[in-house]
Amino acid sequence: MARAKKVGVLALQGSFEPHARVLRRLGFEPLLVRGAEDLRDLTHLILPGGESTTLHHLLELFGIGDAIRARHAAGELSLFGTCAGAILLGRDDGSRPPRLGLLDATLERNAYGRQVDSFEDEIAIDGLDGGPLRAIFIRAPRFAKLGERARVLARRGREPVLVEQDGLLAATFHPELSGDDRLHARFLSVSGHGTVDLDPSDSYRGSQPARYSLSGSDCLFAFLAAARAATSK
Ligand code: GLN
Repeated sequence: MARAKKVGVLALQGSFEPHARVLRRLGFEPLLVRGAEDLRDLTHLILPGGESTTLHHLLELFGIGDAIRARHAAGELSLFGTCAGAILLGRDDGSRPPRLGLLDATLERNAYGRQVDSFEDEIAIDGLDGGPLRAIFIRAPRFAKLGERARVLARRGREPVLVEQDGLLAATFHPELSGDDRLHARFLSVSGHGTVDLDPSDSYRGSQPARYSLSGSDCLFAFLAAARAATSK
């Protein structure tokens, strides 16, 4: 039977607050996930960017990784991984950190170089109305190998940067930092993984994704400041 949508953001480390703000703009009150029991009623979970090794350790420490895998395998939980979150969704190829092994793709960390080599670009996304999306790449990974089950939704040049698979969406950039909520709206509108289509009687209240004028570089600086504050604690 179709269930109402319940959306969570993994809130252990990294850029989870900006994702939560996007979800609120779209009319959802997200659950900030900090333990395996938080996953119980969720239909959608965002794995944010941050530092994938730290995220891996925290997922293990709190037993959340296995719970994510189990609920996803049961067709009950759709996942959206962004940057470090996308790395974790990928195939476990023996490199550090270990991955969840859900997405049929191998991701190479820090593929564009160091933090100073971070950049922004406009990218066109298959099936997304309203023109290209401003994408912010912060010490981004790349999809080194894609398996048959992974479908490319966007490329930058020849490089895939957004990939989808049944119940999975993975971006090598930070869609939560550009003030453009269309990709989150798309993630939430996807059904077929035990969830229902958008329905105003659900927790979904808005229909038009909000657009904000905060520039990408403001967002980048805000993100870096937040990351510095978090690591100096
Ligand atoms: N470089 C980070 C890692 O490998 C990911 C960066 C990000 O999430 N912005 O974990």
